[in-house]
Amino acid sequence: MNALAERYVKLVLAVGQHDPAYVDAYYGPPEWQETARSAKQPLAELDQAAARLLEELGAGGAGEAGGAGEGKAGGSDEDELIALRHQYLERQLSSMRARISMLSGKTLSFDEESRLLYDAVAPSHPDTYFAGTLAELDRMLPGPGALIDRYDAWRKDFVIPAARLGAVFDAAIAECRARTLEHVELPSTERFTVEYVTNKSWSGYNWYQGEFKSLIQINTDLPIYIDRAIDLACHEGYPGHHVYNALLEKRLVRDRGWVESSVYALFSPQSLIAEGTANYGIDVAFSNEDRLAFERDVLFPAAGLNPARVGEYYEIQGMVDRLSYAQNEAARRYLNGEIDRKGASEWLTRLALMSPPRAEQRTRFMDDYRSYVINYNLGKDLVQKHVEARAGAGADAAKRWTEFVRLLGSPRLPSGLEASAAR
Ligand SMILES: [Zn+2]
Repeated sequence: MNALAERYVKLVLAVGQHDPAYVDAYYGPPEWQETARSAKQPLAELDQAAARLLEELGAGGAGEAGGAGEGKAGGSDEDELIALRHQYLERQLSSMRARISMLSGKTLSFDEESRLLYDAVAPSHPDTYFAGTLAELDRMLPGPGALIDRYDAWRKDFVIPAARLGAVFDAAIAECRARTLEHVELPSTERFTVEYVTNKSWSGYNWYQGEFKSLIQINTDLPIYIDRAIDLACHEGYPGHHVYNALLEKRLVRDRGWVESSVYALFSPQSLIAEGTANYGIDVAFSNEDRLAFERDVLFPAAGLNPARVGEYYEIQGMVDRLSYAQNEAARRYLNGEIDRKGASEWLTRLALMSPPRAEQRTRFMDDYRSYVINYNLGKDLVQKHVEARAGAGADAAKRWTEFVRLLGSPRLPSGLEASAAR
């Protein structure tokens, strides 16, 4: 398996020569990267090599994984992990072939693309699905004018002033880290650095660098509202992307020598797990009451905002979050060519309640990352179901942490999350 895994890593690096965003992180041998760069193999050759590797995995690994897979009910964690490893490599490779076909000019529908690349398809919702939430918000934010204008005007009181961003984020990161360390053992050398950047289509990004280090970038193009402090600190840092990558490096790459985890192919099933755990990690780290108390006592004062309005802010934001799947609808229509950029922006403004500049930024994200958008909300929902199903009904925070961390440190697939949640 290790020899097959090494070929997988080299293929990911080779595809990265044709698609600069494909290799999101790599900390394996530097000479493999050098070889990929100098060889720059054509896409057709890479596709054939991926197909051959898939065949060999099917033939060579089936016995090994089959037994372990069968034994899931009574089998050990170790058996399960070995079965997951095999399925993971297969699915990552078939996703790679889909990405190669796209890079070669093939056009896929939104749902077909997400199924092939991310091993998942987002549910479709008609406009009316969001109507109840919008009507509720309309009542909560009374006054003249369009709902989006009233929402924007109300929300102005909750922007973190630029001069206070550093202090607010530092406080949020410290709290998220402390809460995570109560439940997860991390290598003592882990750390990350934060940079503030502009001119990006995303709002935050974790660049994992290996050796348990991350560079986290926060985009300051648009106003940053107070809820983003904990969201980004958890999502990019603790217990999100930084912890996820550090655990994969520690548990799979270093402890077991599973080299495939030293590379992270962005347009692959791994991203649904990464984004889903990063988003659900916020709820794992903070109960609703804990979060409100921390915001009221620490973050609102650090940002110079009125702590008496914490409850009001999160009540409205909680409603707006329910509109998240409207983003998938906009992306599906936009990328399928049914609406243009203006139509997609208007859709996001009307149904997802995004301000026009934020909606425009989001359409540029759709240009760059396409059906990747489903990894955030569908990913979160699938991860939540999986963790809650395994932790058991009414599980306490500690049990949820255990299952969450088990997921972070394993090569589980999105379709495997659905299966485990359905059991
Ligand atoms: Zn993310």
